[in-house]
Amino acid sequence: MKIGIVWFKTNLRLNDNPVLAEALRQCDVVIPIYIIPNRWFFKQFGIPKIGVFRMRFILESLADLQQELQKKGNNLLVFKGEAHEIISELIEKYQVEKVFVQKELTAEEQFENRQVTKVIPTVELWDNFLIEPQALPFPARKTPDIFTAFRKQVERNTSVRKLIPTPEKIPAPELEFPAESTTLPPLTDFFDDIPPLDKRSAFPFSGGSTSAHQRLQDYIWDKQFLRSYKNTRNQLLGTHYSSKFSAWLAQGCISPVEIYHQVERFEKEVIENDSTYWLIFELLWRDFFRYVTLKYGSKIFHLGGIKNLKIKGRQNFLEFRFWADGQTKDRFINANMKELAKTGFMSNRGRQNVASYLVKISRLDWRMGAAWFEYLLTDYDPCSNYGNWMYVAGVGNDPLENRFFHSRKQAQYYDPNGEYTNLWLK
Ligand SMILES: Cc1cc2nc3c(=O)[nH]c(=O)nc-3n(C[C@H](O)[C@H](O)[C@H](O)COP(=O)(O)OP(=O)(O)OC[C@H]3O[C@@H](n4cnc5c(N)ncnc54)[C@H](O)[C@@H]3O)c2cc1C
Repeated sequence: MKIGIVWFKTNLRLNDNPVLAEALRQCDVVIPIYIIPNRWFFKQFGIPKIGVFRMRFILESLADLQQELQKKGNNLLVFKGEAHEIISELIEKYQVEKVFVQKELTAEEQFENRQVTKVIPTVELWDNFLIEPQALPFPARKTPDIFTAFRKQVERNTSVRKLIPTPEKIPAPELEFPAESTTLPPLTDFFDDIPPLDKRSAFPFSGGSTSAHQRLQDYIWDKQFLRSYKNTRNQLLGTHYSSKFSAWLAQGCISPVEIYHQVERFEKEVIENDSTYWLIFELLWRDFFRYVTLKYGSKIFHLGGIKNLKIKGRQNFLEFRFWADGQTKDRFINANMKELAKTGFMSNRGRQNVASYLVKISRLDWRMGAAWFEYLLTDYDPCSNYGNWMYVAGVGNDPLENRFFHSRKQAQYYDPNGEYTNLWLK
């Protein structure tokens, strides 16, 4: 009997899951696990790497995944600590032969995978791309540095792969799993202060593949907000102006490939227009930053970015706190920072403006802002976060030099009646 471990990371779903499918192809039974790593609780610039919003979302996603696995005759074991140590114990206990896991793009996650390959043969597969590296019309490490060049080549020369179906059964070993590893830790194990949901939130959703699919159904099919996405996507208020898929995508509760096929079906059955195209266009931005990371590795975390620029990174913590706490002289910036702190979400328009303010007005080290986002964003994703921050800071993939978001003008344009600003600065 061949026993494999399926180590879930940011692929918290059963549908369209290449890692799970491969494990089931190679093994008779599998042990699904998830590990909450110690490194999440380290600090950078004195800022924790994970806050309560994302942790809550992850725990909800794990609860959902566990229920789905139980329906298929299996379970999810959840641990806290160092992956290679935990997996070593499991190998002995259950005579495991292989571990199946997603390939990683960033250094800490890659190191964690490498440590595990030292104790057991590991099968690593790409996940979470719309267009996977093997389908690109160029070697992934030669990804163009400008998004438009990347997009045009991809649009002309590739197609999105088919969906991998949800497995009918996910057989488990006959041994009982110990209750302490199948009981999910509560949020209070990690945080003392758990804020209630803020009624003003543009992201009042919970984690998990089930809620991701509810949102997909609602946004695309039931309310058909997708029809007008291109016109609404820069708005600031409410749940409907953009898809809000990002947090589910970041934890892999839904795959970009599945979203693509839903949009394609909508185009065939309902309408094909600029808005349906634009949602896929944005998913390509997401892929683009993943490829930038694949190409440049840890440079995305360096002050000079992928351009290796010699810039000054001022680290004035008092000024940083004014920005982070929403106490600058600019009300639009403050409103956005309050929304982030209260809900773990901020619109794309807001993110561009507050990032530009930190870099161009406060003239602070952009990585402090990126770290603040990393701490608070429910949808934090290293490639999208650091890729976008580098872009705004002028050390990344922006072909324009000195792009600047004039936040007062932006507020007049996107929040002409001050409705958004007043909502958060009451
Ligand atoms: C400074 C800064 C930091 C950011 N940090 C993150 C982050 O940590 N995680 C994250 O997912 N997004 C990040 N973004 C990108 C973007 O703001 C969010 O993806 C978007 O606001 C999420 O809302 P939505 O799902 O409704 O997006 P929609 O407008 O509905 O877009 C659909 C999907 O396309 C992708 N997408 C859209 N815009 C971008 C973009 N600029 N870059 C990459 N992917 C994009 C997302 O996966 C999103 O869910 C950041 C942007 C900026 C300017």
